[in-house]
Amino acid sequence: MAFSDALKAKVRKRAHLACCLCKAMGVEVHHIVPQGENGQDTEDNAAPLCPSCHETYGANPQKRKFIREARELWYEICAKRFATDPERLDEIKRLLKKTVSYDDFLAFKEELLAHIQSEFTAPRTEEEISHEIDVLLDKIWYNRHLCLRERVEAGHTKVAPDIWKGALEAAKGVEKRYPKGELGPWTDFEWGMLNGKLSALRWVLGDDWDMLDT
Ligand SMILES: [Zn+2]
Repeated sequence: MAFSDALKAKVRKRAHLACCLCKAMGVEVHHIVPQGENGQDTEDNAAPLCPSCHETYGANPQKRKFIREARELWYEICAKRFATDPERLDEIKRLLKKTVSYDDFLAFKEELLAHIQSEFTAPRTEEEISHEIDVLLDKIWYNRHLCLRERVEAGHTKVAPDIWKGALEAAKGVEKRYPKGELGPWTDFEWGMLNGKLSALRWVLGDDWDMLDT
């Protein structure tokens, strides 16, 4: 018997057509245990050897174990040497997923502009904008009034009594119009937002930017 063509092709392929001992190209498929000793035509008994190594080691029974080990090692190396590292690839894929390209950003921008311009978010009417400005002015005025009140009550500042009476009444009116919690106290950030919103709305209605004359 002899190795089948299919098995020989398989062995050559696993060895990348190279001798498992000297790595020379061009191999014969060698019976590790010779056919004369009942060596089988199996993959386990087949070693890829070049003609020279075949000649040198092939007939030496002492070298059988060595050939087998060399073959296993060479198969292992062949299986890995052109293979990609899947873990590394996963890592790269993971990183690529996190990367936002400029095209992604442009697509996002288009989407956002389309959303803003959609009917669903039609521009506010001038009435709505004016109302919002009134609300912001109330809140900002009220906060300033409280600061002034502290100074007046501590005697640091004097305000003409009739003006002060009017101011206190106006403050009561504000307190009636807004639920508790909507009139501060504000953090620096919230205070900045109030003034920023007011500035933006006034800009929409024609004021210059940073027109903070309240
Ligand atoms: Zn060789």
